[in-house]
Amino acid sequence: DAPARSPLLQHLNAEQLAAVTLPAGHALILAGAGSGKTRVLTTRIAWLLQTGQASPGGILAVTFTNKAAKEMVARLSAMLPINVRGMWIGTFHGLCNRLLRAHHKLAGLPATFQILDTQDQLAAVKRLCRQHNVDEDRFPPKQLVWFIASCKEEGMRPRDVPVRDQDMQKKVEIYQLYEEQCQREGVVDFGELMLRSYELLQGNDAVRAHYQRRFAHILVDEFQDTNRLQYAWLKQLAGDVVEGRLVTHGSVVAVGDDDQSIYAFRGARVGNMQDFVREFDVQRTIKLEENYRSYSNILDCANALISHNQGRLGKNLRTAQGPGEPVRVHEAPSDLAEAQWIVEEIRNLVRSGEAERREIAVLYRSNAQSRVIESQLFNAGVPYRVYGGLRFFERAEIKHALAYLRLLENPHDDTSFLRVVNFPPRGIGARTLEQLQDAARGAGCSLHDAVSTLTGRAGANLTAFVALIDVMREGAQGQNLRAIIGQMLEASGLVEHYRNDKEGADRLENLDELINAAESFVTQEGFGRDAVALPLDEQRGAPVLGQSPASQGLDASLPMAEPGTVIDTDTGETLSPLAAFLTHAALEAGDNQAQAGQDAVQLMTVHASKGLEFDCVFIGGLEEGLFPHENAMSDRAGLEEERRLMYVAITRARKRLYLSHSQTRLLHGQTRYNVRSRFFDELPEEALKWLTPRQPGFGSFGAGFSGGGAYGARASGGAGRSLGEVFASPPVPERKEGPGHGLRVGLQVFHNKFGEGKVLAIEGAGEDARAQVAFPRHGTKWLALAVAKLTVVE
Ligand code: ATP
Ligand code: MG
Repeated sequence: DAPARSPLLQHLNAEQLAAVTLPAGHALILAGAGSGKTRVLTTRIAWLLQTGQASPGGILAVTFTNKAAKEMVARLSAMLPINVRGMWIGTFHGLCNRLLRAHHKLAGLPATFQILDTQDQLAAVKRLCRQHNVDEDRFPPKQLVWFIASCKEEGMRPRDVPVRDQDMQKKVEIYQLYEEQCQREGVVDFGELMLRSYELLQGNDAVRAHYQRRFAHILVDEFQDTNRLQYAWLKQLAGDVVEGRLVTHGSVVAVGDDDQSIYAFRGARVGNMQDFVREFDVQRTIKLEENYRSYSNILDCANALISHNQGRLGKNLRTAQGPGEPVRVHEAPSDLAEAQWIVEEIRNLVRSGEAERREIAVLYRSNAQSRVIESQLFNAGVPYRVYGGLRFFERAEIKHALAYLRLLENPHDDTSFLRVVNFPPRGIGARTLEQLQDAARGAGCSLHDAVSTLTGRAGANLTAFVALIDVMREGAQGQNLRAIIGQMLEASGLVEHYRNDKEGADRLENLDELINAAESFVTQEGFGRDAVALPLDEQRGAPVLGQSPASQGLDASLPMAEPGTVIDTDTGETLSPLAAFLTHAALEAGDNQAQAGQDAVQLMTVHASKGLEFDCVFIGGLEEGLFPHENAMSDRAGLEEERRLMYVAITRARKRLYLSHSQTRLLHGQTRYNVRSRFFDELPEEALKWLTPRQPGFGSFGAGFSGGGAYGARASGGAGRSLGEVFASPPVPERKEGPGHGLRVGLQVFHNKFGEGKVLAIEGAGEDARAQVAFPRHGTKWLALAVAKLTVVE
C-alpha cells in the first residue's frame, strides 16, 4: 500500500503505522512506556504535513517539557524539508503564553507582561501577607500559593470559590488581593497563564472560532497528566458545546499511559482519558504493546511491579529484545557509601566504554538526595548535570540580573523592583521601602511611580535608583541582547558586588553564563535580523466558509508568529528579543543551559525523567519512607502513585538498571535508619542480581513471619522518628483474600514488642492488610497484619 512505502513510515510496526496514518477524527493511543507513543505522535505530524493533509500552521502539539518540544521540532526538521518554526509545538504554559502575547489586550494584560515563577510567586504572596498583617502561622504563604494555584487549576476566580468558614473567607480575600497585585504589576504566574488563556478563548467567540478552524490537528503527549483546566482548554480549542454535545472542527489525538500518571498531587486527572473518550465520542483507541526501549529483564521488572496496582486500564508490554543484563541491586551501609558505589559503577561503565556519560542517569525520589551524589561525582571529577533542583534561572544572582532586565521592560513590576532596589546595597532600608509601599498602596500605583512622592534622603536614594534603571533602559535602545545584558551587569553594580565578594567567583561565572544563555537563545530561536513573520493566510489552505465578518476580520489580521517571537495583534509589533528571552527564562527555568552541550552524567528526580530514556539508569534511595515516600504511604491511592513513579523510573533504562538502598541516611539533619523499599519484593527474582547479600527486608526479616513486626527494631536506635518504623506487605505476589483479621479502627490491641496500642487505620485486605496503630511508648506504626501478631485487648 502506498503510505507504507513512504520512508517516514518505514520504521513502524503495524499498530504504530495504524496510529500514524489514522484518518481525521479523534483518537486515543493508550500504551505503556517505551512503546513509541512519542515517536508515533511526531511521525504523525510529519505524515500529515507530507501528505498535504495539514499545513504547519494548522498543527498544535502539546508536549510535557520544553525539552520534549525542542526534540520534536528537531526531529520534524530532520524528517521534512519544511519550515517547522512557525508550528505551535510546546508545553501548555508555552502555548498559553503565546496566545496571551498575541491577544494581550483582549486578555487584559500589558504587552510586556512578565511571568512569575514559583519563587517569585511565593515572594509576592509573602509581601502581600506582610502588607495586610496576615497571620503567617495560621496562613503559611506556601499554603496560600498552593491554594491559589489549586483554585486556578479548577478554573475558579476568587468569586467562584465556595466559602465554608472564616479561614476560607480569609484565603479567598488574599487570593483576591494577590490577583489585584499581579494585575497592577503586569505579571502572571503559571496557573494564571493557563486560566487567563482559557478565559480568553471562552470569552471571545471570534478568537476561539479562529483557533478552532486553524488547528485542524491537535496532538497531546502525556495526556494522563493533564489537569482539569488543561483538558478544558483543549476542549475550547477543539470545538463548542452545542445542545449538550461537543461539536468539533478538527481532530484531537491524545497519547497517554495511565500507569505513568504521576502528577495527581498537582491536580492531574487520569479521568481526563475517560472523559475524552466520552465527550469527544472517540471511536478509535489504539494500543501499542511492543516496547522498543528496554531489555526484557528491565521490562519484566516494570511489568511485575505495576501489576500490583489496581484499576489499571490494562496494557501489556513485550519486547523482542533478549534478557540483557540482570538488574543489579546494591545495599549500602550509608547514603554516603551508596553514592560512592554509584559513582564507582559510573566510572566503570565509562572506563570500559560501556556507556557515554550523557547516557547515564541517576534518578531519585526527592531533590534532597542529590546533594550527596553530587558531591561524590564532584570529588571523583565526573562531569554531571542536574535537572531541576538548583535550576540555573532560579539561582539568586541570576534572579537579580533578570529582575534588572525585567525592570527595563516593565518598570511597574514591583516584585523585580523590590528584589534589586537595594541590591547591591544602596542604603535603602526596610523602613524606606515600607513607606514606599504604603505610598504606592495609597495612590494605587506601582512602586516605581510612588518614588516621586517620597522626600528627604530616602527619597533621593530611591530617585537615584529609578534614574539608574531609566539610564539603563535608554542605553539598551537598539542594542542586541548580549550588549544589553553586559551593560546591565556593569551598570547595576552586580559584577562589582560579586567581584568584591570572596565567594562570588561562582556567581560571576553564572552571570557570564547568562550572557551565553541569551546568545544561544538568540541563535536557536532565530532572533537574528532574518526572523520574519509569515502572514497567516500563507499557511492556511482554502478559506473557511460561514465565518462571521468579525471573525474574518480577525483572521486576516492574525499573523503567524515565529516561535519565541509573538506578534501583537493590534500593532503588528513583535516582542523584543529581551522580552522574549525573559519569557523563556521564566518558562524554561528547569533547563540548565549552562552545561547543555557537555558529556555529563544526568541527575534528576523521577518526576523530571518522564518521557526520557538512557542506556544506564541508577535509582537510589529505595527505602521505605523515601520511595515510597512517607507522605504517600498511608493510603492506597498514594502508594499506587508511588508505584507508578517507580514504574516510570525503571522504564527509563534501555540496557542497564541499577537499584540501591541504604541502611542509614542523613536527611534533614537526622540520621534515619531505613528499611529496604517494598518495591524490591514486587520485582521478579530471576531478573535481579544482588551485589550485596540480600539482607532481611520487611518481607523476609524473621523468616517464617514468626517474630513478626521486629523490623522496626533496627530503627529504634535512630534519632527522631525513623522512616524504618514502617511495615509493609509481605512478598506475596498474588492477591488472596486471607482470613479476616478481625480488627476495627478504634480497637485496643496488644503487640508483643510494642505493648498496647490503639488501631487508627486499616488498609488493604488479606495478605496485604496493614494497620496503623498508635502505641503510647513507641509512637504510631504501620503493621503488616500477616506478620505482626496483634491480639485484641478486651
Ligand atoms: P514513554 O512512555 O516513556 O514516553 P514512549 O511510548 O513515548 O515512551 P518513545 O520514546 O516514542 O516511547 O519510544 C521509545 C524508544 O523506542 C525510542 O528510542 C524510539 O525511537 C524507539 N522506537 C519506537 N518505535 C520503534 C520502532 N518501530 N522501531 C524501532 N525503534 C522504535
Ligand atoms: Mg513518550
